[in-house]
Amino acid sequence: MLAVPVLAQEPLQITLLGTGNPRPSMERFGPSILVEAGETEFLIDVGRGAIQRLYQVGTAPQIRDIDLVLLTHLHSDHVVGLPDFWLTGWVFGRDRPLPVMGPPGTIAMCDHLGQAFAFDKKVRGRDDRYEAAGIVLEARDVQPSVIYDADGVKITAFEVDHGDGIVPAYGYRVDYGEYSAAFSGDMKYDERIIEHAKGVDVLVMEVISPAVELARAAVKSQEAIAKVISHHISEEQAGSLFARVKPRLAVYTHIVPSPTTAEDLIPPTRRTYDGPLAVGYDLMTIVIGKTVEVYPRRVSNEP
Ligand SMILES: [Zn+2]
Ligand SMILES: [Zn+2]
Repeated sequence: MLAVPVLAQEPLQITLLGTGNPRPSMERFGPSILVEAGETEFLIDVGRGAIQRLYQVGTAPQIRDIDLVLLTHLHSDHVVGLPDFWLTGWVFGRDRPLPVMGPPGTIAMCDHLGQAFAFDKKVRGRDDRYEAAGIVLEARDVQPSVIYDADGVKITAFEVDHGDGIVPAYGYRVDYGEYSAAFSGDMKYDERIIEHAKGVDVLVMEVISPAVELARAAVKSQEAIAKVISHHISEEQAGSLFARVKPRLAVYTHIVPSPTTAEDLIPPTRRTYDGPLAVGYDLMTIVIGKTVEVYPRRVSNEP
């Protein structure tokens, strides 16, 4: 387990490392989620600043030992932190390849990352004698299916509609023992998630506030605003899906646009959903056990 949560360890924990979107924000880093299922630790997306958030809650060896990276899709806000996480994990002593799974295009992107950082791989490998295996990205293009099944952890990729031919885009479901969670990735209203997330304890969903986005008309064209809204799910739409999935807790992350607050998101959600709801913030930890608890993750600040 990475770092020490506030309470006793429960089998399945989710930490929202970054809850933002492509626009830089000091409060909301790029989209990235840490999932801890027993001894298995993995990231879903690696947006801007993921390594900083990880380092706030974990030590170098703990970061080095993260088992797996899953990518929901290849929009830059979801992958721009991957080279940093990958290379820093190597500097921290990773001595085995880093598995990266995502939709078709993942292998090609990882191959190009290898080329982009060829200098660092060569020079650091030679001068600092880091393990050659630790700089290998073991990339896999996966199809919607069970993509991982080991140590009691089952991960299922499913397709979601991110609008406008932004394909492929995936969500993921994680099952561990009697507990489970689903993650929407980026999507507009798409009822297929009801089946994929059936029976989960926690459903983590992206969201847009159309009202806040529309208020940005002074700095953005109507056309651009309409486009952004068409790629994401509104609070009312998300609420209607939460109402049908009935998770023990519904969670918002990847909050668009950046200035959106919980006060903006909650009232429209309540028009369609009256169940448990948490508006995510960076380093929010959700501990799934007999109860589902939400905490700010304790920050370690290792020097
Ligand atoms: Zn995104
Ligand atoms: Zn996207």
